[in-house]
Amino acid sequence: MEKRGSPDGDPARSLEQGPEGLEGPETPIQVVLRVRPMSAAELRRGEQSALHCSGTRTLQVSPPGGGPDVAFRFGAVLDGARSQEDVFRACGVRRLGELALRGFSCTVFTFGQTGSGKTYTLTGPPPQVRRAQGEGVPVPPNLAGIMQRTFAWLLDRVQHLGAPVTLRASYLEIYNEQVRDLLSLGSARPLPVRWNKTRGFYVEQLRVVEFGSLGALMELLQMGLSRRRSSAHTLNQASSRSHALLTLYISRQTMPPADPGEPPVGGKLCFVDLAGSEKVAATGSRGELMLEANSINRSLLALGHCISLLLDPQRRQSHIPFRDSKLTKLLADSLGGRGLTLMVACVSPSAQCLPETLSTLRYASRAQRVTTRPQAPKSPVAKQPPRLEIEMLQLQEENRCLRAQLGQIDPKASRLSGARVAWAQRNLYGMLQEFMLENERLRKEKSQLQSSQARARDEQRLLAQQVHELERRLLCACYGPQPRPGPAPPCPCVMVPAAPCPVMSPKAPGDMPLCAQPPPWAPPGNPGSAKCPRERSHSDWTQTRVLAEMLMEEEVVPSAPPLPMGTPNTPPVLRGEEEREGGGAAVPNLARRLEALRDQIGSSLRRGRGQAPPSEAARSPSRVLPPC
Ligand code: ADP
Ligand code: MG
Repeated sequence: MEKRGSPDGDPARSLEQGPEGLEGPETPIQVVLRVRPMSAAELRRGEQSALHCSGTRTLQVSPPGGGPDVAFRFGAVLDGARSQEDVFRACGVRRLGELALRGFSCTVFTFGQTGSGKTYTLTGPPPQVRRAQGEGVPVPPNLAGIMQRTFAWLLDRVQHLGAPVTLRASYLEIYNEQVRDLLSLGSARPLPVRWNKTRGFYVEQLRVVEFGSLGALMELLQMGLSRRRSSAHTLNQASSRSHALLTLYISRQTMPPADPGEPPVGGKLCFVDLAGSEKVAATGSRGELMLEANSINRSLLALGHCISLLLDPQRRQSHIPFRDSKLTKLLADSLGGRGLTLMVACVSPSAQCLPETLSTLRYASRAQRVTTRPQAPKSPVAKQPPRLEIEMLQLQEENRCLRAQLGQIDPKASRLSGARVAWAQRNLYGMLQEFMLENERLRKEKSQLQSSQARARDEQRLLAQQVHELERRLLCACYGPQPRPGPAPPCPCVMVPAAPCPVMSPKAPGDMPLCAQPPPWAPPGNPGSAKCPRERSHSDWTQTRVLAEMLMEEEVVPSAPPLPMGTPNTPPVLRGEEEREGGGAAVPNLARRLEALRDQIGSSLRRGRGQAPPSEAARSPSRVLPPC
């Protein structure tokens, strides 16, 4: 039969193929068939076998009285000659165990007619009771069933995982439509089956026992088996009269934990031993036995009905009556939900049982077309509320902008410590905190840089004003008040209006601005400046000297180097950059201009006193007033 889920129809393998497997691909229920050997009683009665295996996956059924054989194909077909160990190895329960360790919810259940070997396959032959002590004798190891073998395998596997694992178990039975706790400390009373959105169907107040060793788990199994209802009837001396569910809960902490608060990965492995369907007439059940048989049949009927509906693609989308019985409620996740399921169909080979055997085979064939969508628990990061993710993205964006802005001003600031980034990458909350701290730091640095930039600009403006004022005062001292465009502070040196100097006239030909005119202290290259034709009055010189002496006492000591003078649109340049790039000429220029002004005033004073000016050779070129 064609199987879905993976190319070779192996659901466990398809789940192990990668992350997309964890998203819940459609995975069929895995079905294997076990044919028990003919019992001594059947052989005594001379019953014939109607079944024979063809290869490892096909069963041929020969109808009594001739007719063509009917073939059924399953994941594996195990005949009566196969040992318990063979069944354990071939049925694929270890793959389910692996998936349970990874957080999947897995179920193994046996299904078939009463006396077909369901309980034997799961837990071996019924435990012998030593009459003297009233104790159960453990099943011999070679006859131990799938459950005991899986327990041993799982505990061994857990030991080699290298990660802490917590193991717990619960064990219940559904008897006459009542759930009873097989591990309860007191008398077993019926427990309610409830439903909620996160857990689905669950049994309230069920005792879940933590265990740490194979021995402890075996004791729990023994306790449950001895409490389970069984009766003798014609088809089976120890016929189970209830459906029994033993569940292992596996809480595994991944190593190393991505987050200290990360919840453990929780998987489940549930073993279900169904009570067998039976024809009441054939088993000869009366009274209580008949009541039990009817309720067993009713719940198995509900199970069959659910399976039929699950197979119908149209009805599957609508309502599946899992609520019709306790059994279907508790198997709902295994059959149609997010779990992984393995069904071990058990049949008797006897031709006398053929109608029930055919019914079981048809049932099992249909079951392997039922699919589930297995899902492992999502990682904690994926569970973060979307609000946090949005907030994180916004902070990341703000952080990026701030870094870019700061990088323009101070390239060193854009570097981040690798260790901090690594820490931040560990989790979403960590990253949020890290971004907030980082943003805060960047904001502070940016505002500090902006305020120091503003301070530097103020100082520059002040210095430029002082220089300008000095120049103006010098001109006033030399030539009397000059007409100035726009409002200007009154010139402190206006005493006697001086006749305009033909050379220095503000109305010079070409209307050159005043500052562009050759100044009176221009170097000798300017012949006109060497001997100014105009004679100054005594009062001129007196005022000039007083003013110049006053000005020479002024000290201009900037607290911070000013920014270069530029057009108003020129972007601000940092001190360091200005010096590196040779843009720091403005400050020395201003200083030189101040000094040249002082020199010029000094020489004017000396001339006024009749002293010879210092020789040209003594003048440093730097003393020439730089251009405005
Ligand atoms: P079910 O649980 O299906 O009603 P059991 O598992 O109780 O049936 O089996 C009925 C009887 O058949 C038991 O005595 C059991 O020991 C025996 N039996 C079942 N399967 C096998 C087997 N594979 N090999 C030997 N004996 C078996
Ligand atoms: Mg049984």
